[in-house]
Amino acid sequence: MLKIQNLSKKFGGVKAINACSFEIAKGEITALIGPNGSGKTTVFNLISGIIKQDFGKIFFNGKNITNFSVEQISNLGISRLFQQSRLFKNLTVRENLFLAIDNEDTKLWKNMFGLNKITKEKKEKVSEILKKCGISEIENKTANDLSFGQKRLVELARTILNPHQLLMLDEPVAGVNPKIRQDIIKLLLKLKKNGETILLIEHDMNFTLGLADDIIVMDAGKVIAVGKPNEIKNNKLVLEAYLGS
Ligand code: ADP
Ligand code: MG
Repeated sequence: MLKIQNLSKKFGGVKAINACSFEIAKGEITALIGPNGSGKTTVFNLISGIIKQDFGKIFFNGKNITNFSVEQISNLGISRLFQQSRLFKNLTVRENLFLAIDNEDTKLWKNMFGLNKITKEKKEKVSEILKKCGISEIENKTANDLSFGQKRLVELARTILNPHQLLMLDEPVAGVNPKIRQDIIKLLLKLKKNGETILLIEHDMNFTLGLADDIIVMDAGKVIAVGKPNEIKNNKLVLEAYLGS
């Protein structure tokens, strides 16, 4: 579904991404793992068009999207959860979710002119996602008043609500408490059962070993291993990258 080919990106003199290539399959959870600073978030930034690569190409469903804008890429159906919180702080959970429908958060001007009507259909969609993510009881809370883990769940809900074919999640469970961590794991498994395609960044190798179908391991801007969880668990290069860091 998504293929990156020979991607390279330098920041100043530092090669953050160095001839990185991989492919992910439809309907599966693929985990992108690797030590801190290995380039995982930078790969996400390149795929979503936030920054541009020095070299290399990106394909989505066979289409070359290398030079597409952030909006074009989002409209193609790549929906992303960021490593840092991006909720509208003064809006409620429910209001934040309404903005995500139809990709509305890239069309804020429409809201200003009142062109986005809150229809019955949209209300049902939001209620459904609140339930799916187990956050119905906090729907009227202001984003500012949520715990870190609750914010994460709301952001996940928003990412899922965005019309999409591919979900890209950057460390969805980092820093959340054990209970919400379990909730998020359950949610991801539910999504997979519904046929979603997920590309997941995670620093914690153990977390992904139990969840992902395929694992891609990065170190120093490169892919150093690709395989099933049980293959990755015993891969010498992978263990060295983790233990060495
Ligand atoms: P990861 O997500 O795997 O922890 P990152 O992709 O965030 O790693 O970072 C990879 C490398 O690129 C790091 O050395 C980081 O400091 C550097 N880097 C990332 N983004 C920038 C940026 N905007 N400017 C300068 N250096 C950056
Ligand atoms: Mg990162």
